Amino acid sequence: MTKFIFVTGGVVSSLGKGITAASVAAILEARGLKVTMTKMDPYINIDPGTMSPFQHGEVFVTEDGAETDLDLGYYERFLRHSKMTQRNNFTSGRIYSAVIEKERRGDYLGGTVQVIPHITDEIKARIRASGEGYDIAMIEIGGTVGDIESLPFMEAVRQMQVELGRNNAMLMHLTLVPYIASAGESKTKPTQHSVKELRSIGLQPDVLICRSEHAISDDNRLKIASFTNVEQRAVILCPDAKSIYQIPSILHAQHLDDLICERFGLDTPEADLSDWHQFTQALLNTQETVTVAMVGKYVELPDAYKSINEALLHAGVANNVKVNIDYVDAEKLENDDSLFEHIKAADAVLVPGGFGERGTLGKMKAIRYARENNVPYLGICLGMQLAVIEFARNVLGLDANSTEFDKKTKAPLIGLITEWFDEKGELQLRSDASDLGGTMRLGAQKAELVEDSKLRQIYGSPVITERHRHRYEMNGRYIEQLENAGMKISGYSAKQHLVESVEIANHPWYVAVQFHPEFTSQPRGGHPLFNSFVAAAKQTKK
Ligand code: GLN
Repeated sequence: MTKFIFVTGGVVSSLGKGITAASVAAILEARGLKVTMTKMDPYINIDPGTMSPFQHGEVFVTEDGAETDLDLGYYERFLRHSKMTQRNNFTSGRIYSAVIEKERRGDYLGGTVQVIPHITDEIKARIRASGEGYDIAMIEIGGTVGDIESLPFMEAVRQMQVELGRNNAMLMHLTLVPYIASAGESKTKPTQHSVKELRSIGLQPDVLICRSEHAISDDNRLKIASFTNVEQRAVILCPDAKSIYQIPSILHAQHLDDLICERFGLDTPEADLSDWHQFTQALLNTQETVTVAMVGKYVELPDAYKSINEALLHAGVANNVKVNIDYVDAEKLENDDSLFEHIKAADAVLVPGGFGERGTLGKMKAIRYARENNVPYLGICLGMQLAVIEFARNVLGLDANSTEFDKKTKAPLIGLITEWFDEKGELQLRSDASDLGGTMRLGAQKAELVEDSKLRQIYGSPVITERHRHRYEMNGRYIEQLENAGMKISGYSAKQHLVESVEIANHPWYVAVQFHPEFTSQPRGGHPLFNSFVAAAKQTKK
């Protein structure tokens, strides 16, 4: 039977609930258990797919094409053996819409449809489904205890704890122990209050994880335990660490995993965290640095590029360097020459994915510089589309654009996937197509890599699987022209033969891909494409 660990947060948001939950999961996995994780988000949007990265950070895409909360990225980076799916993230909006759909169909046979039991039953069914086939399912509840909107989730958790029993369910609560500088003391009161708040809705935490800036004294730990009715050894301290990847070791050192296994009656070997130690040692001890200029639209909020930031960090460890990311505002770059100095000073340039026209000229200016000056360039999704447009404009002399930005462009190098094939069976993209609905290419897809391409050499394989999230595609009509001028197509999608990647042969490292390699980068090992990109940046520096 699957054991459930519910994770709530108190006092304030942004304490790193996702990372902490993922760290617990990583230790349990290191004890040989099969672990999965789910995030429940209390907002009304059906999924984060339509939400601005400015508000909510990046949208993480799963193998099966779900557009999810960025916490799922942490889950996959911390777990080695479990992949996230559609089942692992759901919102209040998704729950309500499912219940309302059933009501309209008449499934409730004329009954009054209510939060309890109908909404809570729907939540419980999804929690149970998400844990099927696993030893442990960690269930993270978004938001902070006391929020009105997370109440139905909390109530569902309360009911499930009773239904599952003490041996199969436990509650972990993450809180903040603030340090008051003027008093020179850490304060436990917010934690006490937050547990009181939990108790008022019938939830008693089994474990408290106390986040703090400073170390917390034994006295305070004892005080927290006695005021909250939590065993002293279950009050786990988690002071700020240099790297999030140290957290599994910090929790393991306090025997949190022993406590969980004891409670659930699980007899497993000790956790072997040597690979985590190795990774964090390498991460914290690197001296040499390289700088990657990342030219994007959402640069004020680095969370918007979370998976790319992590992938570069992993690739840094794989190459024994620290990667500094210099975020450059694409829109400002269009006219600001002093900002352009950042591009010139960087060891490599990266243009990430994005939607909409704003900032595209700035991005192309950076791409052109990298192309003409032999600076390593990695283009991801929109970063590939703009690389193709930049090349078509400045090398082929075409009045090129994407129909995303100019519906009537004379040279639609990039267009929508509507009416892909003409009567001869050749790929054609209509430049006037405007139907955006349901045309998104989402999730993992196979690509075939061209022999002798740099990309094939990088991956060391003729076929790869990578995740997608885009509507527009490169227009097959221009392949010949591009190739004759030196831009090579290095990969095609296995299914529709759409262009997956381009490169420039007489450039030391210029690779742009239509997919998102960042979603599959792992701390333990990195990702071939990012590893090779950072290696090239390191080479440039020398
Ligand atoms: N806006 C582009 C498209 O929809 C690129 C999307 C992306 O970069 N993820 O195709």
